[in-house]
Amino acid sequence: MLMQDGGDLRTPKRFAIVALMLLLCSLSTSILQPVHAVESPYEPVEICDYVDQLEFNGTLANESVHWQTSLGPRVPGTNASETFRNSVEENLTLWNVSMHEYTVDDLTFTNVEAVLEPDGADNDTPRIVLVAHYDTRNVAERDSDENRTNEPIVGANDGASGAAALLELARIIPPMELEYEVELLFTDAEDQNYTPHRFFGAEKWAEEQTQHDINRTAAFIVLDMIGDADLQLTHIWPGNGALWSTIPPLAEALGMVENQTDCNGGMGVKIFDQNTSIGVFDDHVPALNIGIRAIDLIDIRFGPGAQAFGGYWHTHEDTPDKVSAESLETVGRMVELGLRSGAWLATNISVVEQIEPVNTSEEEVEETETIESQSYPVLMLMAALSIGTLLLFMAFLGWNIRKKS
Ligand SMILES: [Zn+2]
Repeated sequence: MLMQDGGDLRTPKRFAIVALMLLLCSLSTSILQPVHAVESPYEPVEICDYVDQLEFNGTLANESVHWQTSLGPRVPGTNASETFRNSVEENLTLWNVSMHEYTVDDLTFTNVEAVLEPDGADNDTPRIVLVAHYDTRNVAERDSDENRTNEPIVGANDGASGAAALLELARIIPPMELEYEVELLFTDAEDQNYTPHRFFGAEKWAEEQTQHDINRTAAFIVLDMIGDADLQLTHIWPGNGALWSTIPPLAEALGMVENQTDCNGGMGVKIFDQNTSIGVFDDHVPALNIGIRAIDLIDIRFGPGAQAFGGYWHTHEDTPDKVSAESLETVGRMVELGLRSGAWLATNISVVEQIEPVNTSEEEVEETETIESQSYPVLMLMAALSIGTLLLFMAFLGWNIRKKS
């Protein structure tokens, strides 16, 4: 059929222009996505091959929890804080340990970085960063004794447990002779009572990363509050979906997932529940904000039957008797299995969709730990919308110019 007028002839071209613009919009949105740009095909890892090699010793980690709490609260600027740092430097003789001191506002704090490179490492050697805050909270705002809410806590779980796990990993990693670099990052000033809340140590670390550092970082994994004798791990958001997708297979292999058979043929128990998702802002957020694949392994339901952000959290009940060697070993071995199997190297991470929150309930989402980082998804959305609007405007202009010509 013949076209009745030129207008009809141009319609497909208009559609083409609009389609092109929409494509550009969606591209601009995906470029802005925080999810790391590593999009390699899934290469299954034979995780069970490594289970018999696991060496993480929960008893040793628990001894560190007792030692750290015996120092007293590790609030930035205290002798206890300095003693902890000196101990890391003295004991991690096979690691390249460095101190990084900063002052922000009136707060001076120090991150400790311990790096182990493989033989023949170069600028492009992939890196995995394992992170824990070693400071403890300077107040106990949730304590039932109102006379003691202004006193700092000893932080057996919230502080010592993650640091203890890193120290035990520091002992067992060198003989593994991994093909990639591991950095143990002990952050300071994660848990200080400032308004708005800030992750001082993790923010400073993120500020110092070059684009090259960011590009070669395959994973940034935070361990926080992992020693609760009543261990209940869940999916935590925000967090990188591809990196999260590596956790259920590791947990299943070690019998941490209910009704899933572990590598030894045993039936798993409910320790890691991937169908529950809890919102927690922690040291992983500054890394996510600069485009690093980051997740937070945390049990924010501290104590038997505790609700999220309830129980012993931020009280003077956060003491070593609430922490168990068994829980430390469970999480420590899961991390060790991830390291040994190379599960977190870019080539092994499956690009699957984010684990969707299933059981998230209102009271499980805590707003107090929010902050500027909360504006991050909003900023991303606004940036994408702005670019989209600009492109549509350009399309509109082009359309009008064509009309006039
Ligand atoms: Zn805390």
